[in-house]
Amino acid sequence: RMFNELQELKGNIRVYCRIRPFLPGQAAKHTTVEYIGEHGELAVVNPSKQGKDRRRNFKFNKIFGPESTQAEVYSDTQPLIRSVLDGYGVCIFAYGQTGSGKTYTMVCPNGASEEDWGVNYRALNDLFSISQNRRDSFLYEIQLNGLAVPDASMHPVTSTSDVLELIGVGLKNRAVGATAMNERSSRSHSVVSIHVRGKDLLSGAALHGNLHLVDLAGSERVDRSEATGDRLKEAQHINRSLSALGDVIFSLAQKNSHVPYRNSKLTQLLQSSLGGQAKTLMFVQLNPDVSSYSETISTLKFAERVS
Ligand code: ADP
Ligand code: MG
Repeated sequence: RMFNELQELKGNIRVYCRIRPFLPGQAAKHTTVEYIGEHGELAVVNPSKQGKDRRRNFKFNKIFGPESTQAEVYSDTQPLIRSVLDGYGVCIFAYGQTGSGKTYTMVCPNGASEEDWGVNYRALNDLFSISQNRRDSFLYEIQLNGLAVPDASMHPVTSTSDVLELIGVGLKNRAVGATAMNERSSRSHSVVSIHVRGKDLLSGAALHGNLHLVDLAGSERVDRSEATGDRLKEAQHINRSLSALGDVIFSLAQKNSHVPYRNSKLTQLLQSSLGGQAKTLMFVQLNPDVSSYSETISTLKFAERVS
């Protein structure tokens, strides 16, 4: 009974962990993520300790190891897309240090074929195909708002290819003025918002669902001795918005009556898809290399607090 109540309390927030593989050309293959359990458990090894303090365990709703495909990672997400079309808010985001695979999971690798498609494309595809299947009972209007685009604007969309085109425009804009796009993207959040207005053709009832797909800025701490001026300000700003997001999800998981949405632009933006009846899915992204040990621990602590 107790267990069921707990499940219910946390029912609207799911946390999945994904460990990316070592990349071709990545030299030493020493992993800090030692064990992947069948039931969502992993152990992180502290390279500088021995004995019982050497390992620390973490538990998730699900863990995807380095061999997991994009299709496997997405496979449980379709019910969330269905609920967007039922009129709920859904937020799916990826959290982790730069290089841990956030963009890979949410979008796809460069020049990807369809099987490499990430959560964004698969979710949008499902959104359109499910709405098509329901066309005898619902009338849907889908708009897209790409917030990676400066001066974001709303666009009605009718197919995945419309969306791909808009995301392409967004990515191009995101790269403008940046020395390297990777560097740019690691210092900004990228949000694709989809608003769905629907009408039940039988009862005439209206519904309004929304979906936020968020590729967060890298969570790594920036060394004060290296960053100065605008770069430091930017880094502090990112850290503040990520911790504000953590605070919101934490208080939702705790069922606190006050949820501090107002503490950052990011949480204000995502408010309609966090809390209440909304459903949240977080992908916690890990780089397995031992050199990432301390960032891995801080990523896992963030996840532990909200799950
Ligand atoms: P982030 O967005 O967190 O900075 P990226 O998604 O850009 O990280 O991933 C860093 C690198 O690792 C990229 O070259 C990406 O293609 C690769 N990568 C990430 N995850 C995987 C994966 N699951 N399988 C294969 N390559 C991956
Ligand atoms: Mg990225």
